[in-house]
Amino acid sequence: MSIAENIAQVRERIAKAAHRASRNPDEIILMGVSKTLPVERIVEAYAAGLRVFGENRVQEFAGKVSALGDLPDAEWHLIGHLQTNKTAKAVELFDAVDSVDSVRMAEKLNASGESTGKILPVLIEINVGGETAKSGVAAGSSELEQILQGAARWDHLKIKGLMTVPPYTEDAEGSRPYFRQLCQIRDGIAARKLSRIGMEILSMGMSHDFEVAIEEGATCVRVGTAIFGERAKA
Ligand SMILES: *Cc1c(COP(=O)(O)O)cnc(C)c1O
Repeated sequence: MSIAENIAQVRERIAKAAHRASRNPDEIILMGVSKTLPVERIVEAYAAGLRVFGENRVQEFAGKVSALGDLPDAEWHLIGHLQTNKTAKAVELFDAVDSVDSVRMAEKLNASGESTGKILPVLIEINVGGETAKSGVAAGSSELEQILQGAARWDHLKIKGLMTVPPYTEDAEGSRPYFRQLCQIRDGIAARKLSRIGMEILSMGMSHDFEVAIEEGATCVRVGTAIFGERAKA
């Protein structure tokens, strides 16, 4: 199947999952995860109507960006772990950083935003499964609390919500309790009406579990394999 056909199929599955949950499919963003893929495949997805893309590594995207040429309205999100020495480059290249997981990272991104006159939309990544190998800030941690409190002084960041990658389970249903948990965390934060904290985005769900994520309230699903096919193993 072509990338265009895959995108059409994923959009149809998004619509069905949204209807099951009595939600409007238009409120769910489909992000194509283009990590490891050559530029031609990304351009093909763009031609098929995809506009929001997720990349994992600053360095990799830096190497692709000039070859991508001008793709009007395309939006590039960093969704992988960011090293603090790459924050300036990340702010330069990306339209949004969806993987903020420390106060230090937020401070650095804000500083880079300030020096380039950019206001950067960001999500806070939550490690819902508490897995040591995964990035993300722990739910209920003091680090998370400090990010929420710090937002008031970061006027070059626009915190828009939460992102998570739950522990992998073969069965998509295994992700459901984690998605539900992220939704509850979001509701809890939103209810506090903190200064400069928006909570409209819930980025959760990947190729194997995005329908479950939508049933649990995702407003953005990050889909790689189901659009582009299996990635070559690194
Ligand atoms: C790779 C990746 C995805 C997409 O994964 P697929 O299973 O290929 O859909 C989504 N989110 C993050 C953070 C990723 O690293």
